[in-house]
Amino acid sequence: MARIEGDPAACRAVLGEGGVRTRDLPERSEGEFCEIRNVVSIRGGTTPLRPAAPAVTCPVALSFAIWERHALQPAARSILGAEVTVIDHYGSYACRRIYGQETGRVSQHATANALDVAGFRFSDGRRVTIAADWSDEGEEGRFLRAVRDGACQAFETVLGPEYNAAHRDHLHLDRGPYRVCR
Ligand SMILES: [Zn+2]
Repeated sequence: MARIEGDPAACRAVLGEGGVRTRDLPERSEGEFCEIRNVVSIRGGTTPLRPAAPAVTCPVALSFAIWERHALQPAARSILGAEVTVIDHYGSYACRRIYGQETGRVSQHATANALDVAGFRFSDGRRVTIAADWSDEGEEGRFLRAVRDGACQAFETVLGPEYNAAHRDHLHLDRGPYRVCR
């Protein structure tokens, strides 16, 4: 899918064919390294996100749609016997370096090329969060680990509680240059 990175039109075409509704955001720069370019807000056609309509790069929108359709909802059905009705997240665009440090590598969040997923709400009223349920030895923990493994198929970098303490309450999903799955 590397081609999609450099081809905004192809990325939007694939999203459209999949029934994912997006709106283009105007390009802009902020500070010395933050940039909104090839960024869309997700408006519909996927499992609803909360807060609604996060701004993500088109490739992240595509990875998200593939993940929620081919990994998240199938895992919810087969492991928990329910549908995911809401995906709770902590955000996508944030103008900062990794871990909010003063120096060092620029975060993929600085270009909206990442999404931090916190948890899920289900059709049976259940809620499952990374913070509370990652270590669960029953079906809810099994569901979360299946969701993480599925994300590794759709995104480049996936970091969760097994990576470090900074990710104890969310799954960081991005389309950056590094292939990491933990
Ligand atoms: Zn993140």
